[in-house]
Amino acid sequence: MDRLQNFINGEYVDPIDGKWLDNYTPSTGEVSGQIPASNDKDVAKAYDAAKSAFESWSQTPIETRSRILLKLADLIAADLDTLAKAEALDNGKPLALATKVDIPRASSNFRFFGNAITQFASEAHENLASDSINFTLRQPLGVVGCISPWNLPLYLFSWKIAPALAAGNTVVAKPSEITPVTAAMLGKYCNEAGLPPGVLNIVHGKGPEAGQAIVEHANIKAISFTGGTTTGAAIARTAAPMFKKLSLELGGKNPNLIFADCDFDKMLQVTLKSSFANQGQICLCGSRIFVQEEIYERFKAAFIPAVEKLKVGPSLNSGIDLGAVVSKSHMEKILSYNALAASEGKLLTGGHQIKLEEAPEGYYVAPTVIEVATTQCRLQQEEIFGPVVTIMPFKTEEEAIALANDVPYGLSATVWTSNIDRSLRVSKALEAGIVWVNTWLNRDLRTPFGGVKASGVGREGGFEALRFFTEPKNICIQYKTNT
Ligand code: NAD
Repeated sequence: MDRLQNFINGEYVDPIDGKWLDNYTPSTGEVSGQIPASNDKDVAKAYDAAKSAFESWSQTPIETRSRILLKLADLIAADLDTLAKAEALDNGKPLALATKVDIPRASSNFRFFGNAITQFASEAHENLASDSINFTLRQPLGVVGCISPWNLPLYLFSWKIAPALAAGNTVVAKPSEITPVTAAMLGKYCNEAGLPPGVLNIVHGKGPEAGQAIVEHANIKAISFTGGTTTGAAIARTAAPMFKKLSLELGGKNPNLIFADCDFDKMLQVTLKSSFANQGQICLCGSRIFVQEEIYERFKAAFIPAVEKLKVGPSLNSGIDLGAVVSKSHMEKILSYNALAASEGKLLTGGHQIKLEEAPEGYYVAPTVIEVATTQCRLQQEEIFGPVVTIMPFKTEEEAIALANDVPYGLSATVWTSNIDRSLRVSKALEAGIVWVNTWLNRDLRTPFGGVKASGVGREGGFEALRFFTEPKNICIQYKTNT
């Protein structure tokens, strides 16, 4: 059986206590191999390696750091097919999606931050009243922890690691134990790109063991975490009294507001994607659809048949729109929410598990649409994170905003309208970190990324990420004037 290993100090190593976890292939439900069930001893070893590498890496000229990250980006891009296949099999997503989105984005993350660090400037403030000049150094924090989820495995893992490394930190990182494969492959590319040993260390294992050990480590200075809101709260409880810097990118329950004056055809096509891309397992998916009443019936009449045409199948099959959801327990969670349709709304399509003849043990869920009449129900309040959307009509702009904001989360929102004034009014009023108007998942890596309310604290992306991974130190020098 294939066993992945931890990557510590530039070498692939077994977990110290010799414990392993099974890794599953969602398309078939079969065990594909094992991964280290690491614990605090492995994290301590990874920390020691990162600590030893810090002085030299933090003093490495920016041009050299940049060159290594750009090389890493090239190596990932060059191995697109291998990485995309590994990602699709490990996560259950369609190969086409991993090929078009996941792996190219992982490569872009290293390229983007490899370039961004060469443009990252700090500030100076001259104070004529006291004949002094302040300037602010932006120094790396030291050893930092990066913990990522399973939905966009290498994409989100690299989104954290790349700015941390670019800024001169050394890293102990943990991918999700549910999708560890591409993160495990990353070590090889790091060595090939010339990243010095110990600069990036990758530890596999369960959250409450390996993850918790990273968060609890007394000398790991910051935690950049993406995952569920409950986990984020647990991390904050541990890290806050230790005064660690924290970036928490958490769950979402994003509204999709569709006004009667929108470009209907474009809206319909994009709404299919924003509902079901990656089996609805993107934190930015629009899982609550609100449609203005003038076009509500038209929307249903077009949307439901289009949803029913979506093809569900194994990751490597061509022509599929949705693959398998990530795990058996996640599938069961999604199906338990679908069962709420009977008491909380009306099931318009889907709602069931799909048993494929070619893969009867795979974790397939039919794309599901549930009509609801209120936001005050579990289907509208709790994150399902699967191929399930609710739909509900609204009358006015004010009502649409109130419905959209009536939720604990605040990650992103989508607005469909051809009225520019409305687009601005609504965007300003929405409680969300990201608003898309007449588009969805339209990302520019320079922009701030993150949520409000239960969707998190802090921003990633662009210089925000480089600010997070550096400590500003102000230096004030008084000069003598000639007078
Ligand atoms: P999760 O919270 O279960 O796990 C995320 C990571 O945290 C994993 O690596 C896990 O092993 C680790 N972990 C778990 N418990 C831990 C602990 N006590 N201490 C330290 N680490 C721990 O989330 P998931 O199920 O992997 O991912 C799905 C969630 O991620 C959804 O809620 C989704 O909305 C969210 N998400 C958010 C964003 C965003 O940018 N806001 C992006 C993607 C996914």
